[in-house]
Amino acid sequence: MRDIPTPAYVCEEELLEKNLKLLEYVQEESGAKIILALKGFAMWSTFDLVAKYLQGCTASGLHEAKLAREEFCRHNEKAEVHTYSPAFKDEDIEEIAQISDHIVFNSPNQLKRFVLKVKEINPNIEISLRLNPEVSSSPVDIYNPCGLYSRLGTTLANFDESILEHLDGLNFHALCEQDADALEEVLLSFEEKFGKYFKNLKYVNFGGGHHITRKDYDVEKLIWLIKEFKKKYNNIDVYLEPGEAVGWQTGYLVSTVLDTFHNGMDVAILDTSAEAHMPDTLAMPYRADVRGSGEAGEKPYTYRMGGNTCLAGDIMGDYSFDEPLKIGDKIIFEDQIHYTFVKNTTFNGIALPSLAIKRKDGTIEVIKQFGYDDYKGRLS
Ligand SMILES: *Cc1c(COP(=O)(O)O)cnc(C)c1O
Repeated sequence: MRDIPTPAYVCEEELLEKNLKLLEYVQEESGAKIILALKGFAMWSTFDLVAKYLQGCTASGLHEAKLAREEFCRHNEKAEVHTYSPAFKDEDIEEIAQISDHIVFNSPNQLKRFVLKVKEINPNIEISLRLNPEVSSSPVDIYNPCGLYSRLGTTLANFDESILEHLDGLNFHALCEQDADALEEVLLSFEEKFGKYFKNLKYVNFGGGHHITRKDYDVEKLIWLIKEFKKKYNNIDVYLEPGEAVGWQTGYLVSTVLDTFHNGMDVAILDTSAEAHMPDTLAMPYRADVRGSGEAGEKPYTYRMGGNTCLAGDIMGDYSFDEPLKIGDKIIFEDQIHYTFVKNTTFNGIALPSLAIKRKDGTIEVIKQFGYDDYKGRLS
């Protein structure tokens, strides 16, 4: 650990596989197919492992679909690429149709605009529409796809029965870090509103946001809900597409203390950034756990830990330690593998963290390091 160039995300293979094994259990017991939402976790150097357990990927557009095709499908021939965008662009649709097994439209308008072209390019592609069940107990508005004036998915009022002839499946995605009880609630509304359209469908996709790998998640209830659903609708296929649950608690972000000083309280500056490297700590917001630390005031030495950018609010939080922090100390932020590197920026020219994998034998392999070229390359 002492030799890792920081900042670095370290994904632990053993923990990732533990999550994948639980997802495999859900698939075996419930009959559902589980695919990985790339938007939450796209460390493709682990896809040899992920593709052993999951049935494919869900992609949010052309680039994610290409990554799924190139880096997931080569490890699993039968893997499926499902592509959804709030709106597709004319210039992308041909390639998306070629490399996708399923395409999910956000509105009847979008479906009518592209369906014939997409089927002409890829006659085997399966067509779905994302619906908005208008029920969600999502914890915060920016992560609530069913909030007021939502642009994500089609409400019953906006449904257009003339597209039914094209549909192979229906999708919804209404949850965020939630339990099976929340799914049950969404399903009730989804079935009540749209159940009349299920008759000729091959599948329903329950989206992501199922916090399946969290310790207290009710896995048996999820399995029961899926089995009941399948029983009720003529053994229809069910998909789940979690992102967070795949990467949940599978690794950490290591950083180094660059400086400390006192300004009303002790302050530590790290070679990472909440804004650029841990964006949900500011967006959600939440406080990431730091290994070996306590709440402010809990241990003798409390620090406000901040990033190495010029944004005043680039602060991870206040943490206390048994010993004073020294320049060069390593600070380990726990659970930083999902929704982190997929969202990173080079704001302020700050270096992107390296990507590393901790192998099952304990060795840490740095897979990729970034530098000045990655900053410059995105600018002109
Ligand atoms: C974000 C997203 C997911 C994955 O959500 P998680 O909360 O990471 O499980 C799945 N489907 C769609 C359509 C999404 O937008």
